Amino acid sequence: MGQKFVKFIVYGCQMNVADSERMAGELAPLGYEGTEEQEEADLIIINTCCVRETAEDKIYGKIGELKQLKARNPKLVIGVTGCMAQKEGEKLRKRAPHVDFVLGTGQLKNLAATVEQIANRRRHSVVNTDMEQGTDSFRGKAVRQGKVSAWIPIMYGCDNFCTYCIVPYVRGRERSRTMEEILAEAREALAEGYREITLLGQNVNSYGQKPSSLAETGVSFAALLKQVDALPGIERVRFMTSHPKDLSLEVIEAIREGEHLCPHIHLPLQHGSDRILKAMNRGYTAEKYRNLASLIRERLPQVSLTTDLIVGFPGESDADFQATLDLVAEIGFDSAFTFLYSPRSGTPAAAMAAQVPEEVKKARLQALMAQQNKISLAINEKLVGSIREVLVEGASKNDATVWTGRTRHNKQVLWPHADEKPGDLISIKINKAQTWLLKGEIHGTYADDATILGG
Ligand code: SF4
Repeated sequence: MGQKFVKFIVYGCQMNVADSERMAGELAPLGYEGTEEQEEADLIIINTCCVRETAEDKIYGKIGELKQLKARNPKLVIGVTGCMAQKEGEKLRKRAPHVDFVLGTGQLKNLAATVEQIANRRRHSVVNTDMEQGTDSFRGKAVRQGKVSAWIPIMYGCDNFCTYCIVPYVRGRERSRTMEEILAEAREALAEGYREITLLGQNVNSYGQKPSSLAETGVSFAALLKQVDALPGIERVRFMTSHPKDLSLEVIEAIREGEHLCPHIHLPLQHGSDRILKAMNRGYTAEKYRNLASLIRERLPQVSLTTDLIVGFPGESDADFQATLDLVAEIGFDSAFTFLYSPRSGTPAAAMAAQVPEEVKKARLQALMAQQNKISLAINEKLVGSIREVLVEGASKNDATVWTGRTRHNKQVLWPHADEKPGDLISIKINKAQTWLLKGEIHGTYADDATILGG
């Protein structure tokens, strides 16, 4: 079996990154090794996202670009996978006939067979978007991109049907992996030297709760967290994403009592107005979110809280937007990902009347970002002078002498590199704060619990 190269082009969320790692694992026995160079690739897989219409246009543009590459190298196999593949299916292949296969989100288990058939010219093309009801696509070994942190999907799909979101339509009904399977994968990652595990799902707080789950129904996310926390060799456990309507006191207590569970919760608020939250079908009110944030802060005083916010949802008035600004200021998030609402065809919100004009949306987004940036900076400035435990990731993007890592609270830190290695836990004295990151200097090679004030 000769050596072959596969290039992944990945769009969208961490779930897509995790799926791509698993696809690389499926392809390894066929002799495929990863490459960054699309010119030397024998196989190019575009793992797609369709959360935004603009993302889809961009991906069609990228697929179009590959036509020339295929003309120069007719043996090149091109595949499209992920959410947009699921949504577009046959339409995608008609629009881009140089694509050899289109596999939907539930068909990753058929990837190796499909590639093998096409590369050996046993089949001309494949389009398979059958929706899977199980979690087979999670099985098999992942070829991980990161060196320090391992992403482990614990569940798949979503049953929440937020009115702006396409995910439940393209990722299917919510189903969870069994705890044994997750723990086995975590143990394997730890044995390979990973120090941090991030448990992934669209709505991790409802892990194991759905009758369609393969996990024993009633097994809670908190129980899973406790098991992962107890694995020998683990340093840090993270998870994403939480849904406010399902985050339980049991999970908060598990973080409080856990030795390795990081005190960071990403809890998407999306909006501060009850009217809009209802139209979004989020399943909570501003008051309920406020109470939950207070409860989290009461039990985990040093927690870092981050969020997602949508600006310009249909029908959003000035007063609704002000409610978002007010609640965001009141809660004081460490950071927020802010999004302009963009209609996603196939979702209920896209058909709602009173779409907000583009220029109004943009002005509101600017105002929200300006406010949040000030809050983030003020929170980070309070960390100047303190000493933080940092898990070393490696050299920063722009300067090989400056290294990067994260605190337990998920703050990115930069410092001048000495002799530390990826995966080391070091102490950094923070001497400068910016909106999105901290800068500092090495304080010691080993984290000294007595001097560390949390992240
Ligand atoms: S919880 Fe809502 S926003 Fe998140 S994936 Fe499910 S439907 Fe989409």
